[in-house]
Amino acid sequence: MIALAIHGGAGAMPRRKMTPAAAARYKAALAHALEAGYEVLRRGNSLDAVCAAVVALEDSPLFNAGRGACYNTDEKHELDASVMDGATLRAGAVAAVSRIRNPVLAARAVMEKSRHVLLAGRGAERFARAHGLELVPDSYFATQSRLAALRKKLVGHHGTVGAVARDANGNLAAATSTGGYTGKLPGRVGDSPIIGAGNYADNACAVSGTGLGEAFIRGVLAYDVAARMRYLGEPLAKAARAAMRKLAGLQGDGGLIAVDHRGNIVMPFNSEGMYRAAIDRKGRRTIAIY
Ligand code: ASP
Repeated sequence: MIALAIHGGAGAMPRRKMTPAAAARYKAALAHALEAGYEVLRRGNSLDAVCAAVVALEDSPLFNAGRGACYNTDEKHELDASVMDGATLRAGAVAAVSRIRNPVLAARAVMEKSRHVLLAGRGAERFARAHGLELVPDSYFATQSRLAALRKKLVGHHGTVGAVARDANGNLAAATSTGGYTGKLPGRVGDSPIIGAGNYADNACAVSGTGLGEAFIRGVLAYDVAARMRYLGEPLAKAARAAMRKLAGLQGDGGLIAVDHRGNIVMPFNSEGMYRAAIDRKGRRTIAIY
């Protein structure tokens, strides 16, 4: 039995601004990433599947990760990403990188090809290049709508992409990638590359978060879901609800996707919308925004 869930961020466009054509574009991009991940999951393992889904979301200009990432106050992009393998608790992450086309692949390279968990900035870029990953100029990440958001001072425009999966061997994995927030300070690092904050996987549950990164870091929210399951014996849905209450208590908006060892999926959020999609253990597909 296999299961996969993905998200394109809790910073979804407000419903009143969403046209039917735009909603169709977002849903098509989610469907594409979902099928890309599921195809890999059917034949392979959860780690490969979450990376395949996140690469597809990073490559879409619609979501705030990879191409289409939001701008900081210098009108530049600084991207964060991480990946975690539930079976082994190995993890890798990159933070504040500006030239790596697919930060999630760099995070995976850090996990598999270095002694470290988190590399930042220039050093992360040098490492990615040395391991054959594609570097791109800043213009690759550029989108008119995100630049307009910065110039209109829509500080706080945000989003993230992520995926969680359970494979046929019962192994779980999580991957998360983001451009952070419009108008963030240069050098600001969010929760997405912080293991346990915006991304976590053991073989009991895998979690990818989206929303106010500072609240996810302070609440250690991705790990909170896993810890509640382990220490309190809570089922996934209850643990995730408690983590969402903690997020609200920290004045954070956002959401998360998670899968447990039985392939149960939850996708709670307290923002107006969260781009999300899943194929559950019975093969049923869901794609939704609000
Ligand atoms: N969590 C991301 C960050 O703070 C933003 C988001 O998911 O909306 O970098």
